[in-house]
Amino acid sequence: MGKNSLRKIAVVGRGTAGSLAAASVTRLHPDSDYELHHIYDSRIPIIGVGEGSWPSLVQELRQLTDLPHETVQQRLNGTRKYGVAFEGWGRRNRDFTHYFTPQQVSYAYHLSADVLTDLLHESTRARHIDAKVLDIARVEDGAQVEFEGRAPERYDLVFDARGFPRDLQPDRHIDISFIPTNTAVIRRCPAIVEEERAGPVLQHTYTRAVARPHGWIFVIPLTVHTSYGYIFNRDVTDVEEVELDFDSFLETDGVSEFEQRAVIPFPNFVHRRIYNGAVARIGNAAAFMEPLEATAIVSAQLQIGMVLHIRFNRSAETVERDAPTVNRFLIGTVLRYGLFVGWHYSCGSKYDSEFWRYARDRAWPQHREAADPEVVGCDALRKFDEMMGLLNRPVIDKADWDRMCGVPLTSYAQMSQGLGY
Ligand SMILES: Cc1cc2nc3c(=O)[nH]c(=O)nc-3n(C[C@H](O)[C@H](O)[C@H](O)COP(=O)(O)OP(=O)(O)OC[C@H]3O[C@@H](n4cnc5c(N)ncnc54)[C@H](O)[C@@H]3O)c2cc1C
Repeated sequence: MGKNSLRKIAVVGRGTAGSLAAASVTRLHPDSDYELHHIYDSRIPIIGVGEGSWPSLVQELRQLTDLPHETVQQRLNGTRKYGVAFEGWGRRNRDFTHYFTPQQVSYAYHLSADVLTDLLHESTRARHIDAKVLDIARVEDGAQVEFEGRAPERYDLVFDARGFPRDLQPDRHIDISFIPTNTAVIRRCPAIVEEERAGPVLQHTYTRAVARPHGWIFVIPLTVHTSYGYIFNRDVTDVEEVELDFDSFLETDGVSEFEQRAVIPFPNFVHRRIYNGAVARIGNAAAFMEPLEATAIVSAQLQIGMVLHIRFNRSAETVERDAPTVNRFLIGTVLRYGLFVGWHYSCGSKYDSEFWRYARDRAWPQHREAADPEVVGCDALRKFDEMMGLLNRPVIDKADWDRMCGVPLTSYAQMSQGLGY
């Protein structure tokens, strides 16, 4: 079995993705006789935002930590996220909610990203190496990690969770800038949920996604503070204009104090080689898109789960043969998330501003070219078109109700209704 070929594993990076990977290897490796190295450079900070999630994280953290749900939620300063509440999006000029399914039952967490990594470290058994990694290269039967000031090491499998690539290169990355935003301004404000005396907060909460003239603002309620982020395009709008509109939004929202946290530029991309048999890129090293539907942690979960499943359950001889299929599957899934997120902009918003005209009329129409199967090597666009086809039918057959394209048909249907698609 494949587990016999996984005697020495490395995880590079200690952000959300790397921490999930290290805890998952610890939990899922069927033997105790293996080495896990958790490598990170303590001089390079983690992104530390990423406070929304999908319901699969609730189950996964329960399994990885062996702690009851209630304890996990409290440790994360968490609240229960039942969906995303959209304000001002689409052409109908009415607010609506995208619920997880089943509605009002299934929930995810709003969580503090920094304490999530702490929680996962407690469930990880690994040798910790604080060093800068210079290169991770495929070698015969594995991968070699080159360090600054240390001898290189060979591993059977390396998870590369080093965060965003420095720049996007067309031969390595699929550019998905049909998603029209590329920068976030993050602010932290006082908590708005009431903490329970004993036990987790049971109140149903939603991530608010509020359309604004220059983009949109997320509002994420945690027990210790409320996280706000203004997501915009720095090539369309100056950050000063965004800050001014952010001020006026907080004022109308009744928030009188805030802490300015960061301005974070981000790329929207999918790596063409997420997995090559010995190196698995995960988290922001594998792909990224703006946080409108909180798709980053769930993507990392999928990447880690898929790679470990294949490597533990298939024989070592099939590693080379499996790699392109796994890679195509992982690219396809993230690209489907990307198409789902980009589509949110297709009906504009209540603002007829430069940003919203750019998003609707210039950025989104590029999605067909960007996701062309000839260019990306997977059928994400065809699957997305099939979803659009289903939404346009007068009746959707019961046989189709469970169809997915990244997310379930129910998510597409709710967004379609809300946006006025
Ligand atoms: C504005 C914004 C909002 C977001 N909101 C959400 C959300 O609501 N939900 C969600 O799921 N996600 C969200 N995300 C995504 C979130 O950033 C990721 O889920 C998460 O941070 C994963 O990051 P990572 O672990 O891949 O990388 P990082 O957090 O960047 O960690 C990188 C790690 O690699 C190490 N490292 C880097 N280079 C080297 C090197 N050369 N040698 C050794 N170590 C190295 C660093 O020390 C660090 O430990 C958001 C992102 C942004 C920008």
